[in-house]
Amino acid sequence: MAHYLECFSKQAMRFDPAGQGREFLEIGRRAGRFPAARYERDGVRAEISVWCSNDYLGMGQHPQVLAATKAAVDEFGAGSGGSRNIGGTNHLHVLLEKELADLHGKEEALLFTSGYTANDGALSVLAGRMENCLVFSDELNHASIIDGLRHSGVEKRIFRHNDSAHLAELVSAADPDRPKMIVLESVHSMAGDVAPLAEIAGIAKRYGAMTFLDEVHAVGMYGPQGAGVAAAEGLAQEFTVIMGTLAKGFGTTGGYIAGPAALIAAVRNSSRPFIFTTALPPAVVAGGLAAVRYLRTSDQERETLRRNARLMHRLLKERRVPVLSDSSHIVSVLVGEDSLCKTASDLLLERHGIYVQAINAPSVRVGEEILRVAPGAVHGGDDVRGFVEALAGIWQELRLPRS
Ligand code: PLP
Repeated sequence: MAHYLECFSKQAMRFDPAGQGREFLEIGRRAGRFPAARYERDGVRAEISVWCSNDYLGMGQHPQVLAATKAAVDEFGAGSGGSRNIGGTNHLHVLLEKELADLHGKEEALLFTSGYTANDGALSVLAGRMENCLVFSDELNHASIIDGLRHSGVEKRIFRHNDSAHLAELVSAADPDRPKMIVLESVHSMAGDVAPLAEIAGIAKRYGAMTFLDEVHAVGMYGPQGAGVAAAEGLAQEFTVIMGTLAKGFGTTGGYIAGPAALIAAVRNSSRPFIFTTALPPAVVAGGLAAVRYLRTSDQERETLRRNARLMHRLLKERRVPVLSDSSHIVSVLVGEDSLCKTASDLLLERHGIYVQAINAPSVRVGEEILRVAPGAVHGGDDVRGFVEALAGIWQELRLPRS
């Protein structure tokens, strides 16, 4: 066998779904009826209910978003036709950037093809081009942040997750003359806990550090007009750069940063993941723009999301099903063992038509496997009650840990 085939065949065995492998469930989210989705496996078709989507507010099926997307397809076609620099910038890209800058009260914003590339592309420049910079990064920061910092080549100090005392200790021990940057998420993507933003902003101010805040799981869902947790706490101006996505609360796709014009210009002019790729299709941008504009004026989806999340937390607590945190809409139920986590997810699907993905390593650390439940604005109170009933039955049957 050729060396390359042997090499990857061995690895493929390790990635078998029975082991560490990832199995991708094929679903067709039903526009207009989501969280309902079409599901097909081994020739069997069924309708299931999705409980792990990042389309938290259902904007991916909102009539205004769909109408804007369709109109842009009719007007501008399917793709953007080029990179932003070479023929790929539509007026819609510029409008969305202006809207996002305005949403966050920042001078300018810059769109990327995803939140992943926004973190990677922005941090590689912002950390990399500040001479002698020292970065303080939360230990549980998302892979895209880690990659951006790696690509910048910057020196890092890692602080314990959401531990502002540890951050203060590390920052105060650093050379006072070195430029500093603190990088963190507001609502954590997996644990669902919320960073102590006021304390972190205070530390940044005391030591003159720049701050880069990933609000991917907060924009659309929290704060006035959906501007995020920093805005909700009146702290948006304390964070130099706010980073977000159009792919979660805003239901479409694309990532962005918003911040001071000089920083945005540096990223626009030298970030490789920004420059060397095809721009987002105008239709996607039109959908994202419609979603952002809509959520700046409507609180209804945010309120439903909050109500459902609160109800789910309360019911799980009553049944002593352990969750990692009860401070956001991300309800991460702790299983703590990979095969049990997969079994629980399989049983929910087979018996109840409920889809919650088992989250195993490397997305979380070994022993911290979770079912990451995302009750959305698209669910009703009875749906939440039905979900908790189903989960509690499986919890009992598999003898999973209690809180
Ligand atoms: N940042 C965090 C904290 C995330 O959880 C994610 C994705 O899940 C991203 C960035 C990347 O965003 P996107 O899905 O738009 O690429």
